[in-house]
Parts: sequence; structure tokens; C-alpha cells
Amino acid sequence: MSFRALFLEKTNDTFSASLRELTDDDLNTHAGEGDVVVRVAHSTINYKDGLAIANKSPVVRKWPMVPGIDGAGVVESSSHAGFKAGDRVVLNGWGVGETHWGCLAGKARLKGDWLVPLPANLSTRQAMAIGTAGYTAMLCVMALEAQGVKPADGEVLVTGAAGGVGSVAVALLSSLGYRVAASTGRAAEADYLKGLGAAEIIDRNTLSAPGKPLQKERWAGVVDAVGSHTLANALAQTRYRGVVAACGLAQGMDLPASVAPFILRGVKLIGVDSVMCPMPDRRAAWQRLARDLDLAKLDAMTQGIGLEAALQAAPKILAGQVRGRLVVDVNA
Ligand code: NDP
Repeated sequence: MSFRALFLEKTNDTFSASLRELTDDDLNTHAGEGDVVVRVAHSTINYKDGLAIANKSPVVRKWPMVPGIDGAGVVESSSHAGFKAGDRVVLNGWGVGETHWGCLAGKARLKGDWLVPLPANLSTRQAMAIGTAGYTAMLCVMALEAQGVKPADGEVLVTGAAGGVGSVAVALLSSLGYRVAASTGRAAEADYLKGLGAAEIIDRNTLSAPGKPLQKERWAGVVDAVGSHTLANALAQTRYRGVVAACGLAQGMDLPASVAPFILRGVKLIGVDSVMCPMPDRRAAWQRLARDLDLAKLDAMTQGIGLEAALQAAPKILAGQVRGRLVVDVNA
């Protein structure tokens, strides 16, 4: 049976992204090794999907490629001991949409070792409203907790707050009782961010230019999706023994910082990766999301689109024009 998919091709250095009708044969021949076939219901557009679909950086390392680093759906068939037909599953990362055909498609052939059972209280749409962005936000919050940051310790800064990682981080932290300062370049989104639970809005321009190596101590914790000078300034403003979880590079890959916050204030910088994150931590993150994320807030940060509109969404997310999260109904 055929299904629709986004399809990325590169021949003689000419790149194209289009909507295609594919078959099970295509999956068997090109998708990559997999012991579980999933009928995808929903996928999403993350920043990395935007890079792949717009051909902006070398995210895709095998051609042709079906993009989509995230998917949620129902198992159609499985030869993996852990999954059977009818199971609801969620997939994040593992190189899917980069080296293995991804989930912006009606079907995907995946490795059972990559799949997480979808928590019972989440729909496939909600799982993809969370997506890699939200699951990474949860990993960041868990990293702060693991280093002992508690609500009573003081304010937590979230950078890139109106984006996907930032929106979920704001919602999670405020539900967990933290006082959240949300840094954004979009002043018009102040009410949106307050609705998600931000206590204070910070103009991102105050963080994005070169700053002093040590600044006034403000943050007990930081979730940074931005990198570059923003991360350097966040480190310089972190309180004695505070913790910074770094997961993103929306401003840049560089880190123009000094060692002063580490050696004079004992600040900890924790790196967060979602792609190859080990399975026990993934399952824990999804259980925590199912328990701690306010689903009304998730709904407020989510916009639904169809597969074709996903093509147009790619340049928008790269331009920082997408608010919160985009869910793709792959059958619409
Ligand atoms: P979004 O595009 O949804 O959000 C990024 C936000 O960063 C924007 O909305 C904007 O927030 C802010 N921003 C954009 N450009 C700049 C700039 N030049 N200077 C300062 N701020 C800027 O992306 P996601 O939330 O999905 O991802 C955020 C980052 O995290 C990306 O770099 C992504 O690659 C990374 N990431 C990493 C993962 C990992 O495993 N480590 C997993 C998922 C994402 P505002 O408008 O509020 O200022």
C-alpha cells in the first residue's frame, strides 16, 4: 500500500524537497535497517528538520532521504521482542531523518531498540507537540534537578523562550514551582510566555552581545537553547554553584566565554544531547513529561499543519518565526 512522504533528493549537487507517494518496497529498499514498521500518525518540525528540509546544513547524510527526526504512531508489524502490532510508540532522534528514513511520512521502518512506548495519557498529537524539542527541554530540567537545583534556590533563566525547547522548558519549570525568567527577542510574545508560566520577560538583546566574564549573580539555573554570547552571558550571571544546561545553538555554535564563572563561582555547565541519549533516560524523560507537563499549556503552544505545509514551515523555523511547537498530521 502506498503512503505520502516528504522526500529530499540531491543529484549532481541539485537539491529538491517535495511531497511523494511511496510504497512498502521503497521503505524496504531505502529506509535503512529496521525491525518495526510504524504507521505514523503525527510528526513535527524541529529546528533540525528545518535545516534538513531547507538544505541549510549537512543534517542529511544519505540520499534520497525522508526527513522527520520525530514520529508517533501505531506499530503495524514487528519482529522486535519488545513491540507488537497495535502498540503506540514514540521515536526521537537516533539519526532518523539524517541517515535513516524519517517520520514526515505515513509509514516508517525503524529499530525497536529506538522506540519508547507512548505514555497512556498522551495522544500521538500531544507526543509530537512535545517532540524532540520538548523531550530535550525535559532532559535539561532533569539535568538541573540532578545537580541539585531546587525552586527555593532562586530564579531559572530560559533562553530562546518563545521557541520549541524554550516554550516547553518555561511550562515545565513553572509547573514544578520554579520562578522562571524567559528571554526572548519577540516582545509581542510576552503574554504568551506569561501564559506558559514565565514570571519575568527578559529582552534577549541584553544577553546576545559580548559581555563581562563575571556579572551580577542572578540565576540558580539556566536552560539555554541559544549558545554563543547568550550562553557566555548566562554563565557570567549564574549564581555561586548554580547550574547551566546547554542544549542549543540558535545564536551560534561558538562559546566566547571565560573560565571565571567555573573557577570563581563553582558554576556547572552541563551539556544535553537528545539524539543518542540512552534508553533509560529517554523513558524517564517521557514518564516525567506525561506527569509534569500541563497539557493545556502544551495545547496553547501548539499549531497543527499538514504534510505539504511542513515544506513551507522549514525556512520559518530557521528564521526564528515559529512560536512554540508545530505538529504535522502526516495524513492531512
Ligand atoms: P526554535 O527555532 O523553535 O527556537 C529557537 C529560539 O531561539 C527562537 O525561537 C528564538 O527565540 C531564539 N533565537 C533564534 N535565533 C536567535 C539569535 N540569533 N539570537 C538569540 N536567540 C535566537 O528551535 P528549537 O527550540 O526546536 O531548538 C532550539 C535549539 O536547540 C536549536 O539550536 C536546536 O538545534 C537545539 N536542539 C538541540 C537538541 C539537542 O539534542 N541538544 C535537541 C533539540 C533542539 P525568541 O524568539 O524567544 O528569542
